[in-house]
Amino acid sequence: MSLAEYQKKRKFDETPEPTGEKDVGKKRPKLKTGKNLRYVVQKHKASQLHYDFRLELDGVLKSWAVPKGPSLDPKEKRLAMMVEDHPLDYMNFEGVIPKGNYGAGEVIVWDHGLYHSPDAADEPEANKRKLRAGLRQGRLDFVMLGKKLKGRFTLVKMNRKYDERGDSWLLMKYEDGYATTLPVTKDRSSVISDKKL
Ligand code: MN
Repeated sequence: MSLAEYQKKRKFDETPEPTGEKDVGKKRPKLKTGKNLRYVVQKHKASQLHYDFRLELDGVLKSWAVPKGPSLDPKEKRLAMMVEDHPLDYMNFEGVIPKGNYGAGEVIVWDHGLYHSPDAADEPEANKRKLRAGLRQGRLDFVMLGKKLKGRFTLVKMNRKYDERGDSWLLMKYEDGYATTLPVTKDRSSVISDKKL
């Protein structure tokens, strides 16, 4: 997976976003266990407010823009547009992308934590294999162990008949002990600072 598209879209002498050229693997959460990978959800007040949903896999953050944000209600299907892979150190990015730059506006780290494939036992390689297959096949099931997002979720690629560009997915919560109709996006706070957005 390549960060070429990510880098092409950005002017790094203007934006405070990471260039993706240095490896900052040191910032891994202490909770990390064998099968788990990291995720981040950033709230981004660009020209259109959205949430950036990013899952670590194979050295990058696979990324989707979710206009309404995630929901813990299994009845809600949230549109998630797949966007370019982001560098791993984007996980810690909070700040303001200056006017005139790609994605100009404020970004906070709205949630973060670990995730894994639901049936990956404790085997890291099997976990990654299942996640890669899910991405390829357009049905990605995973368990989130975050501060706000918890339990089992799925990302399902929309049928091409209804999706000309081929980058539309739906993000949904599974029915489990973490499912609730309370809107999780009511919480506007960052999980790494005092910021609210
Ligand atoms: Mn964004």
